[in-house]
Amino acid sequence: MRALVKTEAGPGLELLDVPRPRVGINDVLVRVHKAGICGTDVHIERWDAWAQRAVTPPLVIGHEFVGTVVEVGSNVSGFAPGELVSGEGHVVCGRCRHCLAGRRELCAHTIGLGVGRDGAFAELVALPMTNIWHHWAGIDEDVAAIFDPLGNAVHTALAFPVLGEDVLVTGAGPIGLMAVAVARHAGARHVVVSEPNAYRRDLALRMGATLVLDPAERAPADTFAELDMVEGFDVAMEMSGHALALRSALGAMAHGGRVAVLGLPTEPVPIDIGDLVLKMLTVRGIYGREMYETWYKMSVMLRSGLDVTPVVTHRFPFTEHEAAFAAARSGESGKVLLDWTA
Ligand code: NAD
Ligand code: ZN
Repeated sequence: MRALVKTEAGPGLELLDVPRPRVGINDVLVRVHKAGICGTDVHIERWDAWAQRAVTPPLVIGHEFVGTVVEVGSNVSGFAPGELVSGEGHVVCGRCRHCLAGRRELCAHTIGLGVGRDGAFAELVALPMTNIWHHWAGIDEDVAAIFDPLGNAVHTALAFPVLGEDVLVTGAGPIGLMAVAVARHAGARHVVVSEPNAYRRDLALRMGATLVLDPAERAPADTFAELDMVEGFDVAMEMSGHALALRSALGAMAHGGRVAVLGLPTEPVPIDIGDLVLKMLTVRGIYGREMYETWYKMSVMLRSGLDVTPVVTHRFPFTEHEAAFAAARSGESGKVLLDWTA
């Protein structure tokens, strides 16, 4: 099969013919239709300091995908060839305290698809049956391909109740953009987006943001009067991984505000703990998706009017992976998809 492979420790990726994945007794083999490029894939392609620590070549990368089941292991039930599925990209141990308690998203032994095991930028991908999610017939395959990052957005946006609340989203990358739509769907009053990139601010408005701002020109706290807010934001979602964004969010919260942090800074970030204490803020880290309540919520919200389609801005056949990665790196993009059926 053809696959996009990190062949050696260094920048770049190669499109190669590789053996098809081994299908264990508990595994499901999927023929990939479409796959999304994530920031993680860009890090691995570029071979930055994080990738050098996390990845051992050779490795097939990629973890956001949709496809059809082609084969199941002898122990698998509930999945049959031809069914449309996506995969949860975190493969958990199944045996630790959290896994046994059904809180698999807290597993400390998670292995990432396309990071610690061969991934989905390939014609075929194999995953344990416990990582496979059925789609309903008729789902838009572009949206099905990005259930993994949509799950990040849903997990973050639903971490705290947003009904009637004023919400700040810092960072309008693909996940922040989808979080805007989810927060609106879940009943937020205002969703203010802070994002330096004009292309993405524009996309944020299309996803339902009430107001967008460039952090170089205006602080989130400068919007209260315009939006008829009394004290500050009730809920913030940090989705940029940038220190200034997190600090501006903490500074713009109302007393008792709640801050969900998904963005991953590359270095430690100093914050004003006094602000946090005196405002009695709750700060919660968000990693991955809840298995599988987030997946259920995604499916039912999409079937009851949640629309995230504007986030997909670019589509390429897998043979044009270099152009696809360039689009993802450029910042002049939302989500970039690779078509593996061509
Ligand atoms: P991304 O990295 O493309 O988006 C980040 C956005 O933040 C960019 O559009 C950038 O212009 C913007 N930004 C930069 N400085 C800013 C500032 N000062 N204020 C506001 N915005 C600013 O992409 P993404 O894929 O949406 O990921 C968002 C973040 O989430 C990244 O940090 C990523 O590493 C992290 N992430 C976390 C998880 C998890 O499970 N916790 C999963 C995936 C990604
Ligand atoms: Zn575990």
